[in-house]
Amino acid sequence: MAEKLDKAFALLDGAKSLNAENVKAPLKDVRRALLEADVSLPVVRRFIARCEAKAVGMKVTKGVEPGQMLVKAVADELCELMGGVGAEGIKFRDDGEPTVILMAGLQGVGKTTACGKLSLAMRKQGKTVLLVATDVYRPAAIDQLKTLGTQIGVPVFDMGVDASPPEVAARGVRKAKEEDIDVVIVDTAGRLNIDEKLMSELKDTKLATKADETLLVVDAMTGQEAANLTASFNEAVEITGAILTKMDGDTRGGAALSVREVSGKPIKFTGVGEKMDALEPFYPERMTSRILGMGDIVSLVEKVQSEVKEAEAEKLKEKILKATFDFNDFVTQLEMMNNMGSMKQIMQMLPGTTKLSESEMEAAEKSFKIARSLINSMTKEERQFPDMLVASTTAESRRARIVKGSGRTEADLAQLIIMFGSMRGKMQQLSGELGGEAGNVGLQ
Ligand code: GDP
Ligand code: MG
Repeated sequence: MAEKLDKAFALLDGAKSLNAENVKAPLKDVRRALLEADVSLPVVRRFIARCEAKAVGMKVTKGVEPGQMLVKAVADELCELMGGVGAEGIKFRDDGEPTVILMAGLQGVGKTTACGKLSLAMRKQGKTVLLVATDVYRPAAIDQLKTLGTQIGVPVFDMGVDASPPEVAARGVRKAKEEDIDVVIVDTAGRLNIDEKLMSELKDTKLATKADETLLVVDAMTGQEAANLTASFNEAVEITGAILTKMDGDTRGGAALSVREVSGKPIKFTGVGEKMDALEPFYPERMTSRILGMGDIVSLVEKVQSEVKEAEAEKLKEKILKATFDFNDFVTQLEMMNNMGSMKQIMQMLPGTTKLSESEMEAAEKSFKIARSLINSMTKEERQFPDMLVASTTAESRRARIVKGSGRTEADLAQLIIMFGSMRGKMQQLSGELGGEAGNVGLQ
């Protein structure tokens, strides 16, 4: 899909501004991307209409491709819809009373697991927690919560399988008050489908506990149904937020958009595995890229735009055209990359490179560091006329001096010269294609 999007946006190349006509085809592909990510259809329709309204009339900034502008407009809209930048956590009470969190959701979505994860996260923040087991329909459910509690060192309150859920929950909260516990997390029973009994029981439990937070737990793989599901739960118990679980699977997570759009409530956390520490804050930007299927390309575009000042870009273009790219330009480029953050960060944002291993990324970063220190040890002339290091009578002593000055090895320098040579070769080729005066410099 990422490829399809690229193609659609490429259609826009050359346009000076975005208009109703030229955004049609690319937006059609955005629509398809969203449907493929399992966002529900009505949600997609509303979203596309808003994107269109926002994009049309946008002027295309000089040096930025129109396609990129549209990607950014779409991504901004999506990101804004999902709560803007920054994760929203739990709002804790500050009146000395325990903060009560009620977990709601269908069966098997990961409510009990999320109870454990949230407890652990709060304990790490120095809060005391009490877990309350109200899933009285399956004895195994109470045991499951107790096992988790033991594992993470959090007490679990239960009254066996004969008590009513609202009563258990109310008693649990009372106990927490008596014992001066900071947070109460109430696990509830789920059903395979939404039914009246489940909803009224949940309502009663919410009333009985005066829950501060009612979190809807949604399986990220729910797909299109997420919209209806959210509407039903929100209508019955007015949720304050959601937890999107099983994000470690290969789902694109369109459910996030549906939940947010239908309820207007933030997604507060994501579950990324079965283990107790596999809980993350919700990052709207990351989710945006995942839903659109394009890595963190948008934030990369933004980063590059702000870093590569227009003048510098122009200068570099000139150099490429005249084929006078030297070590000074090379170092400028490296500086620019350094400003943008570590190589590692940048490579991680590029689609398709997410599978680069830690060690490969570290190696790339290291080789840039070495290059910088070697170039720093060169004289002005050597940087300007790189051939002095290869094809002059003093080449050998120059290389020895640079190696010594930089604290690197002869092999490091040799590698840099090769790397530089190949980069310049590519630029000459490009220059030839662009009609510049190619061929007047080079590593002979
Ligand atoms: P409940 O019925 O809503 O209480 O669901 P459970 O908490 O019992 O979870 C159901 C299953 O989903 C269990 O096997 C969990 O280990 C698994 N599970 C829960 N959260 C996640 C998650 O974020 N990622 C993965 N891979 N599995 C999860
Ligand atoms: Mg459960």
